[in-house]
Amino acid sequence: MSVPVGPDAGEYRVPGGLLEKLMAVVRPEFRADVLAFDAADPVFGSPACMVGGCGRPSSSRGLCVGHEGRWRSCGRPPLEEFAATTAAEFAQSALLRCRVPGCGYGVAAMNLCNRHARHWIKAGRPGIDGWLGALPPGLAAAGRGRECAVPGCPVWAQPEGTLCRVHQRAWIRHGRPGIDEWLARFAGFRPGLPAHEQIDLRGLPPALKLELQYGLQHRRDDQTVKVRPREVRGAVGFLRKAKAGSVLDPGLDGTAVPASHRGLLRYARRALEDLAEGAGWDAEYPRDTWKLRRLGISGKGAEIRFGDIPQPWLKDLAKRWARWRLSTGVPGERAQAGIRAVTRLAGFLAARDVPALAQVDRALLERYLAAFIEGQRWVLDPAHKQEILQILSQRLSPAVAEETYAAMVAKTGGQLEPDARLNTEAFRNVLKLRAEIEGSWGGKVPPIGQYYDPVYYEKALSLSKK
Ligand SMILES: [Zn+2]
Ligand SMILES: [Zn+2]
Ligand SMILES: [Zn+2]
Repeated sequence: MSVPVGPDAGEYRVPGGLLEKLMAVVRPEFRADVLAFDAADPVFGSPACMVGGCGRPSSSRGLCVGHEGRWRSCGRPPLEEFAATTAAEFAQSALLRCRVPGCGYGVAAMNLCNRHARHWIKAGRPGIDGWLGALPPGLAAAGRGRECAVPGCPVWAQPEGTLCRVHQRAWIRHGRPGIDEWLARFAGFRPGLPAHEQIDLRGLPPALKLELQYGLQHRRDDQTVKVRPREVRGAVGFLRKAKAGSVLDPGLDGTAVPASHRGLLRYARRALEDLAEGAGWDAEYPRDTWKLRRLGISGKGAEIRFGDIPQPWLKDLAKRWARWRLSTGVPGERAQAGIRAVTRLAGFLAARDVPALAQVDRALLERYLAAFIEGQRWVLDPAHKQEILQILSQRLSPAVAEETYAAMVAKTGGQLEPDARLNTEAFRNVLKLRAEIEGSWGGKVPPIGQYYDPVYYEKALSLSKK
């Protein structure tokens, strides 16, 4: 089954079977439209706010967002002192009602609603307790107001509207959406935890939602890094704006994604690719490109490509060789270089119509080496510099192409030896180091001839056209 992934996804399709796999592996606690986590959650949680009794997740400085705002407005006193002397409710101004008995309006200043604060200021800002005790009856009896339209909010709606002071301001901050749509938002959030600490996946295309749920579940199971729900919210907001249909959308790879969301989305992409394609040797071996991370191999050399080897018999041999090398601990980078050499040979054999391994004999290999020598001479010939730079520029930026070229042709320490000759001096040094430092061969340096027979090469050199 393949599923289109949104209006702008072009030809891209979610890999077949991925959705079914996702539905099978995403657990119920991650299948929700709104994901809310406990402060104790090892990945998405954070220690509770320092203010006693607050219990909300803390961000920087050990305070929840509400208390951090209050701490700032108090002139940033020492944190310990602030935490010890501040009430838990001070963060939850959304739930605070005016202190005047019988008044249920939201708080504007001094824990008083707008109207009562004005009267208190007019009275010359007297001691608040004395002022409250001596209120004239007309002022205290504000009359019963209507409740705020947000479900569960205990505060009265502002006189001019249907929302309390804090919810009205939030509604304005979000661009005054339709009030029903605005109220529906609140229905899905976990009560007692601020909305900005919850991950709201509503309104995303179903496939994308499932992918994100899986990515988050995977993060949680990995338990390698902490992830703030608000970081996830940022990435979700980005996907929503980009009208993405899938995390695997090729347009979401690389610099199109803001740096702050890249890590999370790349992680989700890998987790999804692994789920779609399977991991381990059984799944990897038949593929034309091995992704080494899926085999648990890290380091340089992310993948080994066999796709450019047209002969099935040679590809099979190449794979067996590469797997053997990797299993003996050869770094991915070197296994990769080996397969690049085989791929070069494969191109030569294909051009000469060599259909079977039995036909690869000594004469053919010498001919190949001769062609290799000729090719290398061509590269080292300064007359071909422009042509080579042009070829390199197909894949590299001009500056990098220039650097790459310089590194290849450098007279001393260059990557290419004249006539593609083995640098016997360097080889002898390697043997020497192994003998002296690693104690190989009982510390005695063996002769090069034990490992390298130059007969093929010398013959090839004589065959090559100068
Ligand atoms: Zn707090
Ligand atoms: Zn009041
Ligand atoms: Zn309210």
